[in-house]
Amino acid sequence: MYFQIGLDKSPLAKGVDFGEQVEVFKKQLQLAKDLKRPASVHCLDAFPELLQIMKEIGPFPAGVILHSFQGSPEVVPQLTKLGSYFSFSGHLMPLKEDKARKIVKAVPLDRILLETDAPDALPTNPIFFVPGNATLNQPANVHSVLTYVASLLELSKEELADISYKNALGVFSFQGSKIPLK
Ligand SMILES: [Zn+2]
Repeated sequence: MYFQIGLDKSPLAKGVDFGEQVEVFKKQLQLAKDLKRPASVHCLDAFPELLQIMKEIGPFPAGVILHSFQGSPEVVPQLTKLGSYFSFSGHLMPLKEDKARKIVKAVPLDRILLETDAPDALPTNPIFFVPGNATLNQPANVHSVLTYVASLLELSKEELADISYKNALGVFSFQGSKIPLK
């Protein structure tokens, strides 16, 4: 597992030179590919650049996990073809529901993953809190993400839990992983 690399053009990365990000990211992504490991990729406001780089270096048979995915539905097919998985978190929840639905429905079911991005991305309907800090997220809230994404996809929670669990086993069972090979 190569974890966590990426590109960020959002205000969060203000002052971080983008050219430098690209240079480092390319090397890290190439290394993940050479090692036949899945890479977990953070991408904010830089999907055209991400797609370009993934086309240059890819495809990625071991998988690329686009964590906390909030890209547009339009980029999904090309990213899928290159080997991407799309991991949804509570970051979907502040988006307009219709926008979130379009993103989620663009992703093939066999490429969907769920995550919390804890301690970030506290869901709008958290079930669990971190004692002493009500603004922090924690891993058990993956249940809130499951509930929301299942509702957008019109699937039962059980169905989506099963799908995302199988997808996770698939991508995390690389050679050398502690998860048994598929
Ligand atoms: Zn991130």
